Amino acid sequence: MSTISTDAATQFTIHRTSTPVPEAERAALLAAPRFGTVFTDHMARVSWTSAGGWQDRRVEPYGPLQMDPAAAVLHYGQEIFEGLKAYRHADGSIWSFRPEANAARLRRSARRLALPELSDDDFLGSIESLVREDAAWVPDFEESSLYLRPFMFASETFLGVRSALEVEYLVIASPVGPYFASGVKPVSIWVATDFHRAGPGGTGAAKCGGNYAASLLPQQVAYDHGCEQVCFLDSATGQNLEELGGMNVFVVFADGRIATPEQTSGTILEGITRSSVLTLLAEGGRTVEERTIPLAEVQAGLVDGSISEVFACGTAAVLTPIGRLAGEGFDLTVGDGSAGAVTMALRTQLTDIQYGRAADRHGWMRRLV
Ligand SMILES: *Cc1c(COP(=O)(O)O)cnc(C)c1O
Repeated sequence: MSTISTDAATQFTIHRTSTPVPEAERAALLAAPRFGTVFTDHMARVSWTSAGGWQDRRVEPYGPLQMDPAAAVLHYGQEIFEGLKAYRHADGSIWSFRPEANAARLRRSARRLALPELSDDDFLGSIESLVREDAAWVPDFEESSLYLRPFMFASETFLGVRSALEVEYLVIASPVGPYFASGVKPVSIWVATDFHRAGPGGTGAAKCGGNYAASLLPQQVAYDHGCEQVCFLDSATGQNLEELGGMNVFVVFADGRIATPEQTSGTILEGITRSSVLTLLAEGGRTVEERTIPLAEVQAGLVDGSISEVFACGTAAVLTPIGRLAGEGFDLTVGDGSAGAVTMALRTQLTDIQYGRAADRHGWMRRLV
């Protein structure tokens, strides 16, 4: 457990809104949040120029951005983002989960997209100062939270192709309810064979908007096949599981082993949920394998029962059971199609830490308010 670092947040000047959402209206919005549609009263912001570096740290009223139509991001997509949550504990305090890991990943993404790196202090300071200002927006309902979306983009007015000399970094916040409003329900997955998400040397390990843009058409193909999400295979061989459009994937074997694709090729996003699950599994004495997972092995394992569960993981949904795996020429049920025991136990273990119901033995929680 780390304590509040006041230093970083005090670097941010507060420009308070004169028109906050009235309390009764906010209460109504918090009672029925829809993901990514409602935003808090403020946003955090830091600007960068190649000459002056990061400057003008501030929290300002949430609102539209002024941008020139020739802003580089609108043409060449030089953009990265992060996603994390602020959780309200029973005593009213507000916490984030491993935000230092998000700060480090944003820096890695920035390097890959030729954007300037933001310091950990600025990352943590932006989150702390925004959440303190908008603390009333952190819901206290079961499994609800304030979703935080830090992002950075090339704001320079210039159509030339090079890394921008002017960049903006912002954090916006959106209250979210339980991902599974009516109980955890397994999702169905379409395995894409005509499209890939990432290739060796590409941007697969960076959290950038471009990866998501490329995943939208395959996602539509998944919908067309009656599936909710798409799973990508590696582009080098087209045979091995990589990950979903926005979640990592795990396979649970009936003999207790658990496997997840290894991250050596730079084509898989290094999920913080993934890394936390690996830690919890290893501590629980499980055999954990980070390795190549051929689709053929998964298909055979689902048919002969040696694979009992498959799940996806990421900040938004924590752990999501996968109940059906389909693709060109196959359509398989995972177990009996319901949420698996290993998946659900891990999910509870992780959310208990995040909501302060279990001891934080790893120092993963950072107090914001
Ligand atoms: C964000 C993301 C994940 C999950 O990462 P978490 O840190 O666990 O939220 C997985 N895959 C992709 C492609 C992502 O963008």
